[in-house]
This record gives sequence, structure tokens and C-alpha cells, in this order.
Amino acid sequence: MRPLVTLIGAGPGDPELLTLKAARALGAADVVLIDDLVSRGCLAHARSDAKIIEIGKRGGARATPQEYIEKLLVLHARQGKKVARLKGGDPFVFGRGREEVEALLAQGIEVDVIPGITAGTAVPATLGIPVTHRAIARGVTFLTGRTSDGAEPEWHALVRSGTTLVIYMGLKNLARIVARLRDAGMDPETPACIIENGTRQNQKQCVCTLGALSADGFGGPALIVIGDVVRFANTASSEPRAKAA
Ligand code: SAH
Repeated sequence: MRPLVTLIGAGPGDPELLTLKAARALGAADVVLIDDLVSRGCLAHARSDAKIIEIGKRGGARATPQEYIEKLLVLHARQGKKVARLKGGDPFVFGRGREEVEALLAQGIEVDVIPGITAGTAVPATLGIPVTHRAIARGVTFLTGRTSDGAEPEWHALVRSGTTLVIYMGLKNLARIVARLRDAGMDPETPACIIENGTRQNQKQCVCTLGALSADGFGGPALIVIGDVVRFANTASSEPRAKAA
């Protein structure tokens, strides 16, 4: 048997948003490497005798360097273990998933990828916000609020595109993002929201306008959604959701 690692998308938080395929692969694993963004509830599908390795990497703090994660994956796979690598959302959406695939392939280790539900669609949906809508938003742009080299997107092009903007990792630079969008001509009255810990028990949100967006009071993993579709948000409150997750 050739060494194999399964890269699994765990979804945005609520363990019920794991796919059937992901649950099955977890149940087969000898070793599970789990990111700190992934709900521990997902481990209910792992075998009780599986080795669980926690990987910490909150907000770019890099508690566990990427190279070390890759080393661990290679080490266990070479021992003939069935290795599951559980990542938040979809491993190929801002998850450095392809970097891990490349590193493993370079070591002669095969990789299976099981996609997951990305926060970018599932989290807005908790408020009833569709990221696209006929005639209101003919597209959606997923972007990151933070880049390793400080590069910025083409703000004017983004504003002109008329697509819904879904910004991952945008809290830290929110004031700058808002300023750039306004400078590029976006109406400050454009509906916008921040959703933190979406689909989790401690979900918190603020539904407002581009001009009023502020990161104050938020600190956990959060998405910023900007565009007319946010007017469908079925709540303006920021109370934690009383929902099991
Ligand atoms: N691969 C993941 C994204 C990883 S980047 C995916 O597909 O969802 C991490 C960022 O995703 C966080 O900083 C935050 O912006 C966003 N995110 C992930 N889970 C989230 C959640 N439950 N609620 C809000 N934002 C979330």
C-alpha cells in the first residue's frame, strides 16, 4: 500500500456540516491532525483509538509552522498509518491546502482531497444571506483581508464588478478595507455585515452598512460580507445563537 494522506474539509464549525465522505474518512483514520479552527465535535467520527494531533495556527500567529505540519504528515504516512488532515471549511479555499498537497507529493505520498463547505457561503446563509441573487448580485468574490506580502487587490475593479464581496481574515485590516472601498467609489450605504464564529453556538454578528463597519467587539474568526444581498439578513442583533453546534 502506498502511503496516503486524506485532506479533509471540516466545514465552517457546526459538526453537522461535515460531509458524509469526510465522516467516513475520519472513521478510517489511524492519525488525525486537526486545525484549531475545526470544531472538536467533528472528532466524534474518529475512532476512539485514533491518535489526535492538534495544530494551532490562529490568526496568522503560526503556533505550528507549516513545515512542521508537513513533516508530521509525512512521518505518519510513511509509517503506514492512515492519516487524516482535518482543515476548516474547504481545504482549497484560503486553507493552504494545495501547499500541503505539493509537499506530500514531493515526498512520494499520495493525497486524497475531500472538499468541505466553505465559511464564505455557509456563514452568510445562517442569516439568510445568499451570496448571489438573480438581478441583485450576479457573482461573488472571495478575497482575503490579509496577504503575506502586503499586496492589495484592485479595489476599483472589485467595486465595478458589482459582485458580493466575501472577505476572509478581514477583521484586522477592516478600517483600511473600508477606506479603500470608499475611495474606489463604493456607496457607504451599501449593506454589510460581520459574522463571527458562524454556525457555532457562540456566533455573533453585526449587520450594518459599509460606512459603519467596525471590528470593535469582534476577535474570533469572522467573515465580512459586503453587497446588496446583505439586506436579506434576517437579524440585526449580535446575540449568540441558541443553537447546538
Ligand atoms: N478554508 C476555510 C478558510 C480558512 S481561512 C474555509 O473554507 O472556510 C480562515 C478564515 O476563514 C477566518 O479568519 C475567517 O475569516 C473565516 N472563517 C472560517 N470559519 C469561520 C466561521 N465559522 N465564521 C466566520 N468566519 C469563518
